[in-house]
Amino acid sequence: MLVGCGSGERAQRAEYAVFGTRVEIVVRDADAAKTAAAFRDTGALLQRLHRELHPWEDGDLMALNAALAAGRSIRTTPAIAELIRVGQRLERASEGAFNPAIGRAVSLWGFHTSDYPITEPPPSDAEIDALVFARPSMRDLELDGLRVASANPAVRLDFSGLAKGYAVREACRTILGHGIESALVNAGGDVLVCGAGSGPWRVAIRDPGGGVLETLTVERPLAVFTSGNDYRYGEFDGARYAHILDPATARPVDEVIQATVVAPDPLLADAAATALVVAGSGRWRSVAARLGVARAVVVGADGKLGRIDDGAHGTR
Ligand code: ADP
Ligand code: MG
Repeated sequence: MLVGCGSGERAQRAEYAVFGTRVEIVVRDADAAKTAAAFRDTGALLQRLHRELHPWEDGDLMALNAALAAGRSIRTTPAIAELIRVGQRLERASEGAFNPAIGRAVSLWGFHTSDYPITEPPPSDAEIDALVFARPSMRDLELDGLRVASANPAVRLDFSGLAKGYAVREACRTILGHGIESALVNAGGDVLVCGAGSGPWRVAIRDPGGGVLETLTVERPLAVFTSGNDYRYGEFDGARYAHILDPATARPVDEVIQATVVAPDPLLADAAATALVVAGSGRWRSVAARLGVARAVVVGADGKLGRIDDGAHGTR
């Protein structure tokens, strides 16, 4: 869907409703025919990935999850195979904070829905503890080409903490493949600058309390991803619980309410933002270091800000 042009800088925009959010593509200084072709291909790509990676509606990921739960091996898609490999590496590097094998826990807490906030009561301790005991991990998965098997039937894959990173990377490749040099992909506030061409892009990091925490000036391909609980959450008896769970306890986290990661690789930025929220106030710096995150902004439940900025990535 083309929603019009920006003023002055000859921007053209398209928007797609996928991944439970709106993905916006902005292209600058490209002719209309090139841009239309790029938007058409990007739209088709995003729709395909939306169906393929959907965590609770019929598609390739659900077919895979059904097979793993039944103890069968199954041939999956190249996208899912790559996400499994990346997920295995990131679970290890994040010391288990990021774990896309905990789909059962995400579902148990009611987060496999499009209706927020969730107002159902939280699950019982017995149900939650059964999942903690089952210890689903990406390590349980064995990948042979595109064939996947699980040593643990409790594994249910949910790539919601990684899918947007993958999708924006693929969208960016498609756009650049059309000869466009200046473009940005914005997946509901998670941004990949894919080419700066005629000049820098300005990317804002939102303040969980409203407004803008800081604005980055981005001059080269770079991802800026944020995880937090200000939009997707559950609310029961006046208490709010986050849609990000600590895999060690299968319960919502509460120490860090928002984490933003700036990194060249959008898959790392996406997963690391989630991992830093899970790692909490005591561990987020060490987890960031192990993940190779050079730039991050973390907001604690007490409103305190923490930052890592080792000067990498050339943003201003
Ligand atoms: P958002 O969807 O708001 O961008 P994230 O990128 O942090 O947020 O992804 C959160 C989603 O990832 C959750 O809704 C859930 O489906 C899944 N998830 C929750 N906890 C974890 C975790 N510890 N590791 C990996 N994925 C998680
Ligand atoms: Mg994430």
